[in-house]
Amino acid sequence: MVRRWKLPTRRGDQVALGVFTFGGVFALWYEVFHVLPTFYPEWTTAAYVHCVLAAVFSSSIYGNMLMLATTDISGSGLIMPTGPAPKGWRYCDVCVCNYPPRSHHCKLCNVCVLKRDHHCFFSGYCIGYHNYRYYVVMVTYMMIAGIYGNIFNLSFVLEVKGGISFWRLISFCAPHVGFMFGFESLYVSFITSVTSVGFLVTYCFAWLFINQVIQIFKGQTMHERKKNISTYNLGLKHNLVEALGKNWYLVWFAPWIPSKLPGDGLSFRSRDTKEL
Ligand SMILES: [Zn+2]
Ligand SMILES: [Zn+2]
Repeated sequence: MVRRWKLPTRRGDQVALGVFTFGGVFALWYEVFHVLPTFYPEWTTAAYVHCVLAAVFSSSIYGNMLMLATTDISGSGLIMPTGPAPKGWRYCDVCVCNYPPRSHHCKLCNVCVLKRDHHCFFSGYCIGYHNYRYYVVMVTYMMIAGIYGNIFNLSFVLEVKGGISFWRLISFCAPHVGFMFGFESLYVSFITSVTSVGFLVTYCFAWLFINQVIQIFKGQTMHERKKNISTYNLGLKHNLVEALGKNWYLVWFAPWIPSKLPGDGLSFRSRDTKEL
């Protein structure tokens, strides 16, 4: 189910999308055209391998983001029961329809989202049953790319600064101080700042990734995790299929590889019913 991409309407979402898009492009330029040439002045095999990996990571991140934002997360197109809400379903006053278990209305997207996980500010769009795989893969590659880039950045900055020392490591906590007091040039202060921001951003990516790993292990959405609901935890293999689709082991290679989900997002196997 495809949805036409729309620019997020909320100002906060627009800013987050801008930071995601241009921050990622800047990071790619910085790593490939600024940091990498200092380690590999010549085009050696290792330099090519790093460039190919950078291309793989960025195309995976932006490709999954595109798929995430252009997948229909609502139940439009599905036949929803009318009249009194069936067992386990609830009524949404805003959408004026019954909505199934595990679904929730998102005030920002203004729609009931099937198996809603959360509202992703970077895309300005909700993560739900049909686009969850793209989010998980995107976050995973963001974390790996962040760690990878940080290793290079740290070595690069320490080499420019003249090696490891206590004060040089402390400078990452307040990169502007060295420039303000005249100990460091604007350029050194800038590359120290980029490295510090890289640490923080990668920490956030790792936090997002770990949260999703926990949820997949427990077969939960973010809401169910907060409420400690484990009704839908049927074991890791089933949870993986439920979250990423039947080709859960292939989704990591490309966002366009099909991975059919086992259900329709309206009903789910649970530990109580053991049925769809
Ligand atoms: Zn609704
Ligand atoms: Zn939303």
